[in-house]
Amino acid sequence: MPENQNQNHFDCIVIGFGGVGSAAMRYAAMSGRSVLGIDSHGPAHTHGSSHGQTRVIRKAYFEHPNYVPMLQESYDLWDELNRRHRTRPETKELLTRCGILQIGPPEGQVITGVLKSAETHSLSVERFTREQIMRRLPILKVPENHEGVFEPDGGFLRVELCIAAFLKQAIHHGAELLSNTTVSQISSDDNALMNVHTSAGEFTADQIIVSAGAWANQVLPDLELPLTVLAKQQHWYQIDRVDNKLVNEFPCTFFERADGSSFYVTPELDTIGMKVCEHSGGDEVHDLEQFSNELNDGQKERIDQFLAESFLFTKSRLVHHSMCKYTMTPDSHFIVDRHPVYQQVVFAAGFSGHGFKFAPVIGKRLVGMLDGEQDDRFDFLTLRRFDD
Ligand SMILES: Cc1cc2nc3c(=O)[nH]c(=O)nc-3n(C[C@H](O)[C@H](O)[C@H](O)COP(=O)(O)OP(=O)(O)OC[C@H]3O[C@@H](n4cnc5c(N)ncnc54)[C@H](O)[C@@H]3O)c2cc1C
Repeated sequence: MPENQNQNHFDCIVIGFGGVGSAAMRYAAMSGRSVLGIDSHGPAHTHGSSHGQTRVIRKAYFEHPNYVPMLQESYDLWDELNRRHRTRPETKELLTRCGILQIGPPEGQVITGVLKSAETHSLSVERFTREQIMRRLPILKVPENHEGVFEPDGGFLRVELCIAAFLKQAIHHGAELLSNTTVSQISSDDNALMNVHTSAGEFTADQIIVSAGAWANQVLPDLELPLTVLAKQQHWYQIDRVDNKLVNEFPCTFFERADGSSFYVTPELDTIGMKVCEHSGGDEVHDLEQFSNELNDGQKERIDQFLAESFLFTKSRLVHHSMCKYTMTPDSHFIVDRHPVYQQVVFAAGFSGHGFKFAPVIGKRLVGMLDGEQDDRFDFLTLRRFDD
């Protein structure tokens, strides 16, 4: 029970308990705070950005070497969460290290970026020629003048299980969840106590973490965050392979193509089929409430073309699809910062389609910011970088 005996008062309210918010709730509750998480939907739902069975995780980060120290901590935190989650041997692992093979033109963003991060941070990666890749994974068709880098530490996270594990830990440390409740506004009369206005009434908090994903600008309208939301379809395919023995030990794969587009594949899991997505492209979402999960034929056609050009198979069949949201910033890097007016409000947004693997390290950092901790690893992610 909080010191303030008002039952609607909490030390910390977390707005949005998807990927990042569920992690933040866990670390806030572990710190001894009374914590309330509020979400418009329930845990691990399909309306935001954190659903669809898997999320790829990798360390030799082509996007920027600055992410690597954060990822090194993130891996440790995922392993720690996994140990608590996996109380029985038959429980599925949160993180599976099946390796990741990234393929692209040698001068492209992916190959040069992976090698740069690996060199800067002494990470273990292995380079393969086109011929070596096709000998080892004969199901792949690699274009001429492309090569690959394999990172054994890469793999995938089971996204819904991860959120459930964070929330279970948060509840274990006393946090409360309020599902199906939308925050319409946050405000403060005296700049100290924060008011949280919701569809289920008013709450107050000493501190607030905003982790509202694609809805960040609805919760923080005064900040005018530079975000664009894209609808991105996830696809699951069953493939009749030329060589069926390749099914099981397949790594995650990421393909940068000569035309600048990029696609990725995660191995077949739970007999649903292989997951295939385009990382580039997507359709801009202008009305978050009008978001549709109907099959987008245009996005599927691009996947079919990619599959036909990159995989050897006799037949492929789409068995499942699910629409998801990328929340893009202009430079595709995240925003993790403090509210410029309310110092007791911190937020994380704009994960640009690559944020889930960072959920624990960002969740922990948000709580650290509330405690006044400095951490220069996050300096390149401030909102100020978009100032003119
Ligand atoms: C198709 C796809 C593939 C991806 N692949 C990868 C990958 O392989 N690896 C990787 O690392 N990342 C990947 N990502 C990105 C990653 O999944 C996201 O960056 C991450 O999940 C974002 O988490 P979040 O907490 O910011 O958003 P969300 O998980 O969407 O959480 C936001 C939450 O806030 C709630 N909310 C919003 N507004 C309000 C309000 N007003 N009141 C109350 N609650 C509110 C929402 O209901 C939601 O639950 C992918 C994303 C997509 C869409």
